Amino acid sequence: MIDADLVSFFTQKFKSHPEFESSAPGRVNIIGEHTDYNEGFVLPCALHYKTEVVGSKREDTIVNAYSLQYPDQSESFDLTKPIEHSEWAWGDYLRGVLIELLNLGSDLRGMDLVITSDVPQGSGLSSSAALEVAIIGLFNFAYGLQLSNKQIARLGQLAENNFIDCQCGIMDQLISADAQAHSALLIDCKDLSTQAVHIPEHLALLVINSNYPRKLADSEYNQRRDACERVASTLGLKTLREASMADLRRIAGVVSEEDFRRAKHVITENLRVLDAADALESNDVKRFFTLMYEAHLSLKNDFEITVDATDGIVDIVMTALNGNGACRQTGGGFGGAVVCLCDERDVNSVIEAVQNQYHKQFGLSADILICEPARGLSAQARINSVGS
Ligand code: ADP
Ligand code: MG
Repeated sequence: MIDADLVSFFTQKFKSHPEFESSAPGRVNIIGEHTDYNEGFVLPCALHYKTEVVGSKREDTIVNAYSLQYPDQSESFDLTKPIEHSEWAWGDYLRGVLIELLNLGSDLRGMDLVITSDVPQGSGLSSSAALEVAIIGLFNFAYGLQLSNKQIARLGQLAENNFIDCQCGIMDQLISADAQAHSALLIDCKDLSTQAVHIPEHLALLVINSNYPRKLADSEYNQRRDACERVASTLGLKTLREASMADLRRIAGVVSEEDFRRAKHVITENLRVLDAADALESNDVKRFFTLMYEAHLSLKNDFEITVDATDGIVDIVMTALNGNGACRQTGGGFGGAVVCLCDERDVNSVIEAVQNQYHKQFGLSADILICEPARGLSAQARINSVGS
């Protein structure tokens, strides 16, 4: 169901009903951290938090846009003129994806469009990917471009890499475009093949944002990437995807102890992602919980991207769940969020434990989001009856 405020805002601004609608979700990564740039495996899940866009084609080549989250900032540019950076930060996501669509040689004309979203911005749920995928999805449908979900995801990633200057991988856009209902998506970052993995219905999905101020994230991220590349090249490999623990042990004395642990995380994490997908698929939730917590310990002890605050939330939640669920740092680390899967019946005790203990121990308050796994991009024509 498209947000009624979105349609009435469009109607008020453009004096007509929108012809098309598109919707794309935010996401959380369930397991598979820092494996993407090593051409490994990830297992993200799309969430019910989503970005919606409604629009109508124009005869000329002008794109006019609004976002309900920034109602006073209007966007307007011509697709036949060089596309410069926008006055508004959000406008660059729109311009960035249109540059990529034009680079494909697509025969585009303009669009009037309005955006809205309930994906929290900058909280690690990837509101930017949801925005890119929803907009590309709208143009794809309206102009019959016949792009696959994978191509849509790639264009969103290129927009971030080339116009926003964020060197992200393709995971966020691919899960937003391609997620199946009530499933996580196993993505092989080497060849981008995907497999939907059903999430058992009785499991609840929580994202708990630590609100820890992220400081060193970019420089530390680059250091981790460099460490992985050093070990791969010592092994004569392009990436750690091709490496086994036996390979790593052979060069134990050659690489530094720290680099050894960085590579150990990546190699073991890839195995955990495949095992976890298997465990979920076969409803072996105990095994799945064990793997999730092992993944956290690997990030904490070997990859060293957690902080006391996120480790603290994980401890609080693991104690509250007493084996009936699991919790781990999600995303790049150095703060950010943790993801928890547990039985629906235990959600309240998790929330209570975090509310009672986290602020007391760390002086911060956490945002707890109860999430539903959701499907990916959908775009269609709107059936415009009066008042729709
Ligand atoms: P995230 O982790 O949420 O992806 P980013 O910094 O990558 O964080 O992207 C957030 C940015 O995406 C916002 O600052 C804004 O420019 C843009 N954005 C996200 N959602 C919307 C929206 N609904 N309307 C306009 N811009 C949005
Ligand atoms: Mg983003």
